[in-house]
Amino acid sequence: MIVLGAGPAGLTAALYTARGKLKTLVVNGPMVGGQIALTLQVDNYPGFPDGVTGPELSDRFKAHAERFGAEFLDSEATKIDLASKPIRVWVGEKLLETRALIVATGMNHKRLGVPGENRLLGRGVFVCATCDAILYEDKRVVVVGGGDSAVQEALDLAKYATSVTVVHRREGLRACRCLADRALEDPKISFLYDTVVEEIMGEKRVASVRLRNLKTGEVRVEETDGVLLAIGWDPNTSILKGQLDLDELGYVKSEGINSGKPGVFLAGDLVDRKYRQVVTSCGSGCAAALEAIRWLEERPAQ
Ligand SMILES: Cc1cc2nc3c(=O)[nH]c(=O)nc-3n(C[C@H](O)[C@H](O)[C@H](O)COP(=O)(O)OP(=O)(O)OC[C@H]3O[C@@H](n4cnc5c(N)ncnc54)[C@H](O)[C@@H]3O)c2cc1C
Repeated sequence: MIVLGAGPAGLTAALYTARGKLKTLVVNGPMVGGQIALTLQVDNYPGFPDGVTGPELSDRFKAHAERFGAEFLDSEATKIDLASKPIRVWVGEKLLETRALIVATGMNHKRLGVPGENRLLGRGVFVCATCDAILYEDKRVVVVGGGDSAVQEALDLAKYATSVTVVHRREGLRACRCLADRALEDPKISFLYDTVVEEIMGEKRVASVRLRNLKTGEVRVEETDGVLLAIGWDPNTSILKGQLDLDELGYVKSEGINSGKPGVFLAGDLVDRKYRQVVTSCGSGCAAALEAIRWLEERPAQ
């Protein structure tokens, strides 16, 4: 059994397959622990009433899979062949073969690429209002983006924050009318159009952003306690190109965890356009593992 990805989905899948007595190898990829390892505070994972840091939660997921014998390879899968039997996975020059594969390579939030953004990620720069809105109670937040998710996130944040400023580089919102109308009517939400964030500033945490109006060229500094990035996602599907059907945005056109290829299952944010939470990723990692175990049991090795 090979699992690609060591985020919540891959680590949960590995826990189940290893505990199900399958010889399990996890190929970690570039980010051991996955996206959640980037945040300092996780307040919505059940069983941790006082919250837990992202790195600690990831370490616990990994230790749990290791306890049942899962092994880890600290490299990235560079190519796969899903049509061959056994399935082939390349890690650089090294060729690995497996009877079943779970792909849980997650996704990356699109970044602005401005100074301060990476340094302050998890320290005021955040990507998910469902996860972090409560941390911004009575605080000011800037939301970057103008599509459905940016506006939905602004509405969710406005339940807690004192003010939410939506910064959008275009002239008007791209979000659907019903969402946009709700946001426009919300007294806590204001909008800056034709505007981009040029820098996120603050020493240990976000303190302000430097904004530029694209039409007038005016530059101003706005104080804020948080910056929510809502400019889209890139699924990590580059190794699946030519192997599975992908849509124009790079998402797998699969039915949930079933890839449509024998012995290949998908899990986590990679196949979730809606919820994208640790707990839902763990759930789909578990489901993919149980499907893989059943698939292998029905086809004993020759
Ligand atoms: C800053 C931040 C804060 C968040 N806060 C919360 C929160 O408080 N609560 C919550 O529920 N959710 C939160 N989320 C969302 C949550 O982290 C994700 O929903 C979850 O991590 C998705 O898990 P995953 O395993 O599907 O994918 P990911 O976590 O994206 O993991 C993908 C894994 O695949 C690996 N990989 C990628 N390419 C390859 C390759 N070619 N070969 C091998 N491996 C590869 C990566 O190294 C990584 O280990 C947060 C996200 C971020 C970014």
